[in-house]
Amino acid sequence: MITSATITGTDAPPTALAVPEQTRGALDYPLDGWDLIDFGRSPDRWVNTPKPEKEDKPDFSEIVRLLHLTPHLAPSHYIQRPATYQAMFMTCPICGSSSSAKVCRTCNTARANVTEQKPWTGTAKYCVAWTQDAVRRGLRIVSESEWEKASQAVARHNADSEIADLHQQSSHQVVLTGVWHDAATGLDIPLRSLLAYAPSGGTSHDDKLGSLSITRDASPTYWAASAYSRGQHIVAALKHDLCKPEIRCPKSEGNPKSEARRSKPEASQGGFSSEDTKTQRGKAATQRGVNHGLH
Ligand SMILES: [Zn+2]
Repeated sequence: MITSATITGTDAPPTALAVPEQTRGALDYPLDGWDLIDFGRSPDRWVNTPKPEKEDKPDFSEIVRLLHLTPHLAPSHYIQRPATYQAMFMTCPICGSSSSAKVCRTCNTARANVTEQKPWTGTAKYCVAWTQDAVRRGLRIVSESEWEKASQAVARHNADSEIADLHQQSSHQVVLTGVWHDAATGLDIPLRSLLAYAPSGGTSHDDKLGSLSITRDASPTYWAASAYSRGQHIVAALKHDLCKPEIRCPKSEGNPKSEARRSKPEASQGGFSSEDTKTQRGKAATQRGVNHGLH
C-alpha cells in the first residue's frame, strides 16, 4: 500500500520527471505509472530497456504541455530553432561561380562576399555553433514549424471555455512522489508522477484532477478505447492515490456510495477518477504492477 505521498513542487517543466538518475531495477528507482504498465507486461524488457538520451528531441506533446501548462517556463528551458540561417559565401561577379577561393581562376577576378538565407542545416558552421550554444545553456531545441504547430494547437485548446476554467482554477504540473510499502517483503518502493491539473482551492473544479493527453482522435468513443488500451486508467489511478491527501470533495458529502468507498482503507476521496470504474480497475492494476516488482 502507499504509505506516504507528497507534493514536492508545482509548475514543473514537462521533462521534470522524464529520466530518473537511478538505474532501472535499483531499489531507489522511482516508478511512475508507465513503468508499472511496462513492468507488468515484461519485467525483463523493462529492466533492460536503455534510458532515453537526456538530449532527446522534444516531441509535439512536450511542447503542447509546455505552452499550455507552463508557458512562463518556455524562455528559460526551450529555444526555437530558426528555419533558415544567413549563409556567407564568395561569388565571382562575372561568371557567378561560388567557391571558398578568393579569386575566380576562370575570369581571373576577385570573388565578392555574398550572404543568402538558406534552409537550416545540421552541418553548416553557423548552425553547429548555434546548436552547441543552446545545448551549453541547457535549452531544448524546437524547430520553428513544430513550435508554430504546437502554438496553434494550444490556442485552440485554450479557446475552449471549459478547459480555460479548469486551467485557471488549477495548479499545474504538480510533482508527486510517494512510497509503496510491500508488507510481504518489507520493501519500500519510491513512486513518482507529474499531474497536469490539480485543484488549487475554493472553486468549481476543486473535485478534479486532470491529465493532458495528445491524441489523433479526441472523439469520446475512440479516446475511451485508446486510453484504456494504453493504460491511462492505471496512470490516473497512481496520480490519484499520490494526490489523495490533497483532494477535497465537498460535493460528495452525504453521498452514501461515496461514504461506503471512504470506509475502505484504499478508497480515495473525490477526484474525477474515483467515480470511474475504469480507474478502480486501474488501481487494482497499479497494485498488481507494484507487487509484480517484488515477487
Ligand atoms: Zn568567374
